[in-house]
Amino acid sequence: MPTVALVVFTRDLRVHDNPTLVRAASESAAVVPVFVLDDAILRSAYNRPNRARFLSECLHDLDGSLHDCGSALVVRRGDWASEVTALAVETGAGAVHISGDVTSHARRRLAELRDRLAASVRLQVHDDTLLVVPPGAIATAGKDHMSVFTPYFRRWEQHPTRDLVAPPLRLHMPSVASGPLPMPKDIADGLPSPELMAGGESEGRRRLSAWLADGIEDYADDHDALGNDNTSRLSPYLHFGCLSPLELVRRAGESRSPAGAAFVRQVAWRDFHHQVLAARPDATRRDYRPRGDRWHRSPEELAAWKEGRTGYPVVDAGMRQLAREGWMHNRARLITGHFLTKTLYLDWREGAQHFVDLLLDADVANNTMNWQWVAGTGTDSRYNRTYNVVLQARRHDPRGAYVRRYVEELADLDDAYVHEPWLLPPDQFAALGYPLPIVDQSEARDRLRHGRRGPGQ
Ligand SMILES: Cc1cc2nc3c(=O)[nH]c(=O)nc-3n(C[C@H](O)[C@H](O)[C@H](O)COP(=O)(O)OP(=O)(O)OC[C@H]3O[C@@H](n4cnc5c(N)ncnc54)[C@H](O)[C@@H]3O)c2cc1C
Repeated sequence: MPTVALVVFTRDLRVHDNPTLVRAASESAAVVPVFVLDDAILRSAYNRPNRARFLSECLHDLDGSLHDCGSALVVRRGDWASEVTALAVETGAGAVHISGDVTSHARRRLAELRDRLAASVRLQVHDDTLLVVPPGAIATAGKDHMSVFTPYFRRWEQHPTRDLVAPPLRLHMPSVASGPLPMPKDIADGLPSPELMAGGESEGRRRLSAWLADGIEDYADDHDALGNDNTSRLSPYLHFGCLSPLELVRRAGESRSPAGAAFVRQVAWRDFHHQVLAARPDATRRDYRPRGDRWHRSPEELAAWKEGRTGYPVVDAGMRQLAREGWMHNRARLITGHFLTKTLYLDWREGAQHFVDLLLDADVANNTMNWQWVAGTGTDSRYNRTYNVVLQARRHDPRGAYVRRYVEELADLDDAYVHEPWLLPPDQFAALGYPLPIVDQSEARDRLRHGRRGPGQ
């Protein structure tokens, strides 16, 4: 049994149901919990103020929980593999425990760490970011992943999962120097969105309990209803690992209600997208299924989409929710994503990067594979499906509550006009100060028809 082990936190910023932490503590006399601010990520287009604030709050909260167990979070900054290796040398660690991840960057730096650690130091990777692990575990024989969700989900439901682990009561830690816990500005420059959710395991657990007690019962019928805002909003906590997906699914499934089942099915999409990305790590940039696209280019239309001034109220509401809260309702993500890629016919990579700029839950696997799904270059077999955004708005926001909440120019409009303000008499429309549609959506759809050459081109 090694005397000291490092626990390198990454996207598992919690003490509840954290097998990486618990295994390390059970296998060694002392553990050093560490988080390395990875220079490569800090310098990348992924590092943005909204997630910087959330991450800072997560690290402060984790440090507090570790203090309750008699320990503390050690923070280092620099080249990730070098910092972990240096800390292993400094503490005389005999083992390094870390939870696995599917992105190319995570895999590359893990390989670097493996190369650098002395032969006497055991590197133990725990697969607990997903429920079904390793990511290709339920692929059909001879395949490295599954590309259709429904059969994947049937297997996923039947697949055995590990037991939940209790949080540690007491942790022993040798004396180790730490950098300060980072404040948001130490992570990324720039102002965060004004109405962000607070980060951290404590807040995630509070939200989970509140939602299971009062919210989930309507999920099956209501999760697409934009105005009711009745989804769990737990995605940022799942992304940063403040909540264990296994604990979430177990607790949600306990009710054995249709709502619990519908919710668990939705969480399975997370595993599904991760196993696709694990098998096709280049899908972050390349089309998973190329459709011969010759994307339209228009910096003006892209800017109007980002700023929520396309003139289509439901699209603008979604984009303004994103800017205000660093989060967007799933149905609005589908509508705004379809509008960008299938109506304006702009490259999905432009949309995905804007979501990365703002979303608290921006996740390489979920963001990329959902964008590809929406654009028709991903796992959606009906890859040319298009949405009429006005019909989507009437179906999922029939009273206009969602639009009124986020598009203040339209806050006082009657139900009849809230999704189509251009139908107002011209003088009344002009008084709103709201733009006319930047394109006619039926005409714009010809761009897709002409630009997409289809599979195999
Ligand atoms: C264009 C586009 C981009 C997206 N980008 C992201 C992203 O970067 N990160 C992210 O976590 N989700 C992403 N999603 C999926 C989904 O919109 C969010 O997970 C969901 O809106 C989060 O809100 P919630 O926690 O209230 O979800 P709930 O409805 O309460 O669902 C519970 C959990 O299930 C998982 N989940 C639900 N739907 C999906 C899905 N389609 N794909 C993967 N997991 C899902 C999430 O972890 C979510 O927190 C994207 C969807 C689209 C259409």
